[in-house]
Amino acid sequence: MLTEPSAKTQGLSDRYAALTETGLADEAIPREEALSLLGGDPHEELWPLVQAAGLVRRRYFGDLVRVHRLNNVKSGACPEDCGYCGQSKDSEAPIRAYKLQSKESILAEAAQAKASGAFRYCMALAGTGPTDAEIDHMVDCIAEVKSRFGLETCLSAGLMDEAKARRLKDAGLDRLNHNLNTSEAMYPEICTTHTYAQRVETLHAAKAAGLGLCSGVIVGMGETRGDLVETMYALRELRAESIPVNFLLPIEGNRVLRDEHHGAPLTPAVCLRILCVFRLVNPSAEIRMAAGREQHLRSLQAAALEPANSLFVDGYLLTKGSGVESAMRLILDAGMRPEFDGDTPEGLRGLLESRGAYAPIKDEKLSESKLAKLHVRGVETKECADAACSPSPGNDHAR
Ligand code: SF4
Repeated sequence: MLTEPSAKTQGLSDRYAALTETGLADEAIPREEALSLLGGDPHEELWPLVQAAGLVRRRYFGDLVRVHRLNNVKSGACPEDCGYCGQSKDSEAPIRAYKLQSKESILAEAAQAKASGAFRYCMALAGTGPTDAEIDHMVDCIAEVKSRFGLETCLSAGLMDEAKARRLKDAGLDRLNHNLNTSEAMYPEICTTHTYAQRVETLHAAKAAGLGLCSGVIVGMGETRGDLVETMYALRELRAESIPVNFLLPIEGNRVLRDEHHGAPLTPAVCLRILCVFRLVNPSAEIRMAAGREQHLRSLQAAALEPANSLFVDGYLLTKGSGVESAMRLILDAGMRPEFDGDTPEGLRGLLESRGAYAPIKDEKLSESKLAKLHVRGVETKECADAACSPSPGNDHAR
């Protein structure tokens, strides 16, 4: 059911005002509305949709953008057959395979993440799931990353049970990443060596262990609108705190090579619409424009920060992406600010000052008390005079 429009959505048509109000109440828009928004001409009423998604995003995250830095700590030689992945046993992609990195290497990457203003340091291990020895190693590394750098951490390590997830949690891990990637119905088309249900089991195990869930999709593997909408709602049901929206980067040698959605090639407008609908189905989740943003969103990346509140810098698992300075310029050009988990890194102060955007954001996380001071159109340092502008209870995503 859509929520009634209010003063916050003045200027929007009834349809987009109702979509916005629904998101401001942390409710999902109806499935038929999500399907409709993903159909037809992608340019038609694109900007009202972006505005609606942007109002919802500001409700939970203000104008802050979380920068993530990814380290593929173990690469290649995976016995699984995920058709989109260059690390799969079936892929002929020319990748650099290597064993689990040493503690020194993982800490050195964490230091770089900290220096480059990353809010979260994400580590990924190729493989079906981590062995006990790999868990031992990662427990040691995560504990030191937390104590030495204080970074938010996320680990992607394949399938695992609650006991392993609990060991990671006890070491200080904040989130476990395990993407659904696509709908349950489409899953056998992209992978046959494990099931969608096993993926969901891993997410339940992580949640039972007290870890936050990071789980997302890969758009452009030939899915229908229905597949995508099913995935959006499945992630909502799982209460994924963080949803990376990847756009397929076809790698020569992989089985899944067509970057098509809904029977057509991905375009920037299609990708932007998809991010907006993710926001409106999962209003208070961290929505990340993840792999493929540079190639697929292209000149609409700044606009994509209306629905999305996070991005990766310095590349993905196997492919290069834009660097820190380029990402910071993108954030500032969009009228947003990078969110730092601590002091602003020394190396970024000059850039932020030159753009008039430097302000120490120490410990300025959007807690419930902080949210109470936010106006829906932006962060203000005084109490908001709009009595209707109040945070929704139970929002646990604005960390
Ligand atoms: S996505 Fe993960 S499990 Fe699948 S082939 Fe790649 S590394 Fe292996």
